[in-house]
Amino acid sequence: MTKLIYIIGTSFSGSTFLDNLLGCNSEIISLGETINLNDYVINSKKCMCGEKIEICQMWTDIINCDKKDKKYFNEDYLHYNYYKDLAKNKDYLSEKNKNYANFLFSNYRKISESNKKSILVDSSKNLNHLHLLISNCPDDFNICILHLVRHPAAYINSAKNHYPDTSFLYRLIEWYNSYKNFNNLLKNNKNLSITIFYKDLCNDSLNTLNLVFKIFNINKVEELPKLSNLGKHIIEGNPTKINFNKIYYSEKWKKELALIGKLMSIPFLVLFKYFYYKNK
Ligand SMILES: [Zn+2]
Repeated sequence: MTKLIYIIGTSFSGSTFLDNLLGCNSEIISLGETINLNDYVINSKKCMCGEKIEICQMWTDIINCDKKDKKYFNEDYLHYNYYKDLAKNKDYLSEKNKNYANFLFSNYRKISESNKKSILVDSSKNLNHLHLLISNCPDDFNICILHLVRHPAAYINSAKNHYPDTSFLYRLIEWYNSYKNFNNLLKNNKNLSITIFYKDLCNDSLNTLNLVFKIFNINKVEELPKLSNLGKHIIEGNPTKINFNKIYYSEKWKKELALIGKLMSIPFLVLFKYFYYKNK
């Protein structure tokens, strides 16, 4: 049985960091945001190992697939085209979508076998992608859902730093929808799942990580590695090495975020506190 840990949450919530941390466990391989693989292939982008994706030792087997599967690396299957249509139709089980899901699972299977790891982490964070996977999950796979939540004011501050034109309200609604969608997902599925908070992940990395492993029936780890970019072949990862001994929870949003952003965050902050204590 291959276990797929699927991370959901907003962008700027620390999912790459979490993906890397999970990869500390010798049973696990971090893949990053596999949803961007076809974009990487079409535009010949670099894997985190530094090689162009088509010659990276891990992804090359996947990209050099059978002729019938080559179509999955064209523009129709770029996530912002493909999953947008899927969201409109909610047609996760049509023959076409089933075939695509089979292709995705055969890729996971290849990676699991060639790396001799029984647990994979995908931090794509796309609910339609996750729905497609859950709806078509083969018997030899078990999907576990990991929901990562960040403080709403810290999240909009981070989004503003990356995209100065971003609207606070748009981002706050996105933040809220992420939690609402996660709860809706759980109502209809029996997958193992857990919500964790970015703050706990920084302040108490080892225990938070081992809590995830316990819920997902994975062996715990005794310690974090000292310095690492463990997910060597992760997609859409920041190639900076993470020093696991120097992780700290930053509250720089308190200084940086404009007053209007702070005021707009207040109702969401109340919700956040509620989510936080409900999940404790
Ligand atoms: Zn690589």
